[in-house]
Amino acid sequence: MPKIKILGSGREVGRAAILIEHNGRGLLLDYGVNFDDEDKPIFPGDVRPRDLEGLVLTHSHLDHIGAAPYLYVSEGPRLFGTRLTLHVSRLLLYDMIKLNGAYLPYDERSVEDMLGNADNIEYGKEYTIGDFAFKPLYSGHIPGSASILVEAAGKRILYTSDINVIEAKLVGPARLDGVKADVVIVESTYGDTDHPPRRASEDRFYDAVREVVEGGGTVLVPAFSVSRGQEIAMVLAERDFEYPVWLDGMVRQVAEIYAANPKFILNPGLLMKALSEFRIVSGWQDRRKAFKKPGVVIASAGMLKGGPSLYYARRMAANPKNGIFMVSYQAPGTPGRSILEEGVLGEERIPVLARVEWFDFSSHIDQSGIISLLKGINGVEKVVLVHGDPVAQEALKSRIAEELDITEIETPGFLDTIEL
Ligand SMILES: [Zn+2]
Ligand SMILES: [Zn+2]
Repeated sequence: MPKIKILGSGREVGRAAILIEHNGRGLLLDYGVNFDDEDKPIFPGDVRPRDLEGLVLTHSHLDHIGAAPYLYVSEGPRLFGTRLTLHVSRLLLYDMIKLNGAYLPYDERSVEDMLGNADNIEYGKEYTIGDFAFKPLYSGHIPGSASILVEAAGKRILYTSDINVIEAKLVGPARLDGVKADVVIVESTYGDTDHPPRRASEDRFYDAVREVVEGGGTVLVPAFSVSRGQEIAMVLAERDFEYPVWLDGMVRQVAEIYAANPKFILNPGLLMKALSEFRIVSGWQDRRKAFKKPGVVIASAGMLKGGPSLYYARRMAANPKNGIFMVSYQAPGTPGRSILEEGVLGEERIPVLARVEWFDFSSHIDQSGIISLLKGINGVEKVVLVHGDPVAQEALKSRIAEELDITEIETPGFLDTIEL
């Protein structure tokens, strides 16, 4: 019978790495990293590339792909991902090598060896490799992302990976309804919370942006390069925002990749509208003027750990007319978090007089979402919670036990094995 080995994301958010083993062979689902306080990558558990039939990357976030090139330093396993996932992965891995290269056991060559022979996979199609069959399913997390239904020795294992069930601008809800699975490995990032309705977050964000801009200020939106920055641009474009909007950093590069892959985008017309109406920061001259007139600057990085967003924040923080609007999770110890909690920026502790707000634009499923997701999947005997902290997992576990007819709910830790 197949086994599930947790090489990463056991009782922690991120560092996703799930190994399905059968007859001494493995199918690896994701191989990501986390980062420690000094920004050094933390790797998942070891696996011998020659024992693997294949590696499937569910999406291009570093916590799902950051360790993958390590498996290709010598001869690596076959690699599978949607076309968009593979495309954006290359950009992110090169960027990570640029920033953290000194701490990485691989370089650009391994990235090329990995992606050079990759197979594009498509939603709803079945792929067979050795004793495993797998099918990517639309997961609604970011463009190109997939949940993976694996079949081995007659057992059906559904790995949701990061998933969402709401309608955003870039992606729509996951399509897992009616899937049959014996085991569901589900993310639990927000296992103890419910998000406000997305439309309400969008409206609240838009109203706040207008208030700042109409008061003569500029709004900085520090945003993750992959998906969040483009999503925010589309929220503004949809409402015909008439002030200048600038896109800076990798946000812009990923927007261009998305635009070239419209079939992965829920509302490609809106993305095109944003890209045609909004302005691209293409150098220092643009950067110096982007924040000087009322408008919006959407810039990477999302937690202000460097990148153009930090440049803007330093120059905009002291002016009370401006706004710094966070649209994603701010990890403890990041400049974004210290702005939210202490009202100061960076080691210099620049006082932030600009209006500071946080908005929930999460791309992760919440507690109620997980419950309804599980209700829609047939034949579930066992649920395995990953990609969540223990507090969130305990809350989710109780709610699943209350509302669903599933008694086997596991919360494995790092390197734990689950026998099926
Ligand atoms: Zn993740
Ligand atoms: Zn993700």
